[in-house]
Amino acid sequence: MTDYQQFYRRSIDDRDGFWAEQAQLVHWNKPIEQVCDYSQPPFVKWFKGGETNLCYNAVDRHAAQRPDDRALVYISTETNEEKVYSFAELQREVERMAAIYQELGVRRGDRVLIYMPMIAEAAFAMLACARIGAIHSVVFGGFAAGSLATRIDDAKPVLMVSSDAGMRNGKPVPYKHLVDEACTLAEFPPARVLIVNRGLDKGFSRVAGRDVDYAELRAKHMDAQVPVEWMESSAPSYILYTSGTTGKPKGVQRDTGGYCVALAASMKHIFAGNPGETMFATSDIGWVVGHSYIVYGPLIGGMATIMYEGTPLRPDAGIWWQIVEKYQVSVMFSAPTAVRVLKKQDPAFLKKYDLSSLRQLFLAGEPLDETSHQWIMEELGIPVIDNYWQTETGWPMLSICRGVDGSPIKLGSPAFPVYGYDLRIFREDGSECDANEKGIVGIMPPLPPGCLSTVWGQDDRFVSTYFSLFTDPVVYSSSDWGIKDDKGYHSILGRMDDVINVAGHRLGTREIEEAVQAHPAIAEVAVVGVADALKGQMPMAFAVVKDASVVDTAEKRAALEKEVMKKVDASLGAIARPARVLFIGGLPKTRSGKMLRRSIQALAEGRDAGDLTTIDDPSTLDQIKAALKG
Ligand code: ATP
Ligand code: MG
Repeated sequence: MTDYQQFYRRSIDDRDGFWAEQAQLVHWNKPIEQVCDYSQPPFVKWFKGGETNLCYNAVDRHAAQRPDDRALVYISTETNEEKVYSFAELQREVERMAAIYQELGVRRGDRVLIYMPMIAEAAFAMLACARIGAIHSVVFGGFAAGSLATRIDDAKPVLMVSSDAGMRNGKPVPYKHLVDEACTLAEFPPARVLIVNRGLDKGFSRVAGRDVDYAELRAKHMDAQVPVEWMESSAPSYILYTSGTTGKPKGVQRDTGGYCVALAASMKHIFAGNPGETMFATSDIGWVVGHSYIVYGPLIGGMATIMYEGTPLRPDAGIWWQIVEKYQVSVMFSAPTAVRVLKKQDPAFLKKYDLSSLRQLFLAGEPLDETSHQWIMEELGIPVIDNYWQTETGWPMLSICRGVDGSPIKLGSPAFPVYGYDLRIFREDGSECDANEKGIVGIMPPLPPGCLSTVWGQDDRFVSTYFSLFTDPVVYSSSDWGIKDDKGYHSILGRMDDVINVAGHRLGTREIEEAVQAHPAIAEVAVVGVADALKGQMPMAFAVVKDASVVDTAEKRAALEKEVMKKVDASLGAIARPARVLFIGGLPKTRSGKMLRRSIQALAEGRDAGDLTTIDDPSTLDQIKAALKG
């Protein structure tokens, strides 16, 4: 057994001993009475009786020891602002925000809805909730009023924190009128709305008696000292919605102590980040990566974190690397989608900066195709680690744990189950798959610390969504399709719902996408199964090319389509060959960058595109319709 295998085995076989040790990475105001209470399956309570606080662990304890160390770097290439907060400064800002909350009537257990752009105040707002035991629900900034209203009614917040506007690609994206509209649509609107006025939208209107200005209230509380509320470990810390890729988003409820321990341990064992270093996660606070690895994780681990408002391409495609150089970033976290965007740019941008501080890049959110994996690893010359997890789990469940595992990287594979996760691949009848056999990724409960405690306000939905596919024994179903090789390396093959069944052969969307992606002209592709009278289903590919001039005539399109089909034939066999390969300018994705295959499939089958509340660019659907007609 390797060292990691031993480490992993112990986390499963001596679960309580293992997690009791990890819990020492966190400050407890009152000691833990029971490591794991699994008396009400599938619900689990971690570190029962223990009292802690996420904000204390993320901010205060570091501020006490190294007040002047860098904690939060806010960079906006949209407004050209840049500001560095030390741990001491961060604590002061959080206490000011917490004092504002108290003045506005927020108490322990109350909900605060945060609808904010990527500015430092968004992090203050989250941490201030944690400080006083309020539960935050961060809603991705820029979601439409309807999506916002649904989330307001789900959380019934006493306060909403927002801003006049966000900025994207140099243009203000007004928020405030969406807030007003959502409050009108909602049945349970917040009593107060706190506005961080950035001066980007001069004309926004204020509702008397409800809206208050952050700068004004902050000025009143400059010297605020707000003690932390000690929370029982299983007290909810936040609500966060899944991306809505497969349908209506689910409101994940997270605990306090389990999450704090899980993040602290992950900083050490998975990300191998050290206190005093800097982490840069390119996500948004509206998503789980933003919660775990922009705000809480790095700070809990004593690292500085970078909050970046901007795109990877402005002012040019070198901006991320410029930030890495300037702030000596050692650990970076991003998404495969972003890598595929960078692949379309001039690679010279990757060579322009001194990236010697950067030890590793982690990617998660979508399958990382081998071609892109290899490309980014070669360009950067550092290990690039594929990470598999879900909003539900809060932290990675498949990864190479770089702090404790020196195993080689396998391209396109997020590798091994992370300690704490008894992750296995199952057949549909609930039995376990052999090596190299496709099946459903499941976790033997209890879920480890940090994972969702329940679906907010819907315990029955928690049980029916995650624990009803396999009941003998009960298993947490990820709804993803995966495979494990003889050496234990796993691959995710796509969503269970997206599996394509061609004449009795079941293919993951990932497998065909991988083959298409291997063609040098292709930047990105989505493959869906389309109903076919003869074969049951037929794969159909929608591809984006790196250089549009290769498909600017019907002849060129037909030629490339043939080439791509040949590629698929060669790597998977004719059975997997897409019936059509259509070229479009962009693919429909969620705001978090996930491919909306279900919508593409619906259009290809002549149906309605379905729930589109989280779609990024609806015009991509028209492109698909046009391509289907053409
Ligand atoms: P919803 O649950 O609302 O349909 P979603 O599943 O896209 O949305 P997230 O929790 O943001 O919401 O995404 C988790 C999913 O993303 C995983 O279940 C998996 O399908 C996919 N995913 C994440 N990381 C990887 C990875 N490294 N490789 C392959 N797929 C991944
Ligand atoms: Mg999901």
